[in-house]
Amino acid sequence: MPKALGVDIPGDHHIHTRYCNHAKGEMEEYVLSAINKGLSAMTFLEHLESGIAYSHQTWLTPELFTKYFREGHRLQQRYADKIRIRLGVEVGYNPEAPAQLQKLIASFPFEHIGLSYHFIRRGDRHLNLLSSRKENINALLEAGTEALLNDYFQGLINACKEIPCDKVCHLDAALRHLSEICFTTHHLELINKLLQTMQRLNIALEINTAGFDIRSSPYPSYTIINQALSLDIPLIAGSDAHHPDQVARHFDLLDNSFH
Ligand SMILES: [Zn+2]
Ligand SMILES: [Zn+2]
Repeated sequence: MPKALGVDIPGDHHIHTRYCNHAKGEMEEYVLSAINKGLSAMTFLEHLESGIAYSHQTWLTPELFTKYFREGHRLQQRYADKIRIRLGVEVGYNPEAPAQLQKLIASFPFEHIGLSYHFIRRGDRHLNLLSSRKENINALLEAGTEALLNDYFQGLINACKEIPCDKVCHLDAALRHLSEICFTTHHLELINKLLQTMQRLNIALEINTAGFDIRSSPYPSYTIINQALSLDIPLIAGSDAHHPDQVARHFDLLDNSFH
């Protein structure tokens, strides 16, 4: 990992497991993949949501988090001489449930907390901002993309103040599967305000290399990464792996981009 990235621990700090119902592979397979790729550190970052009305459960229940920690602690011991493993959480913000989220976060010994915003309420259901499913894309278009992005960025600003966290994940990935999304001046102002809030609260920015699978840059864009660097916001790399083969995906492209 290049030093210019300012990454505190060289490694992949956004890795899922089969417990979230939409990733494949045992936790141990992700660990072995990370070791094979020469990483010295990795962070599991599993989904936590609260109060979301959605057709699929794509996050862990408290019971599943208990299993996640049991297996995670076993792996930490077993591979202690090979890799540093952290057991973290990707918290999905819900403006209607900050207290429930805070309570759930406090009930487990998470070693790293990433903040995301995956679902926004419209009427009696939540829309998935990151999904590639056709019915979800249609629902997002129907709701209006400009208003959704206003809510998304303003929501993240509020979330930074309400949810204890170490970093903001995939900052500009909302509506990533809608072509021709263009940020308005107001969106750019909100992004600027979000970065300033992160700087003030000492929250890092994730460089999410899943972005390279559908565009020529990570999440967020290089423009936003450079804004963050000018504010001295620390950067943390993560692949958002949902399969063991995806651990550290496209990290070589980060090496090239930051020289
Ligand atoms: Zn996410
Ligand atoms: Zn994720």
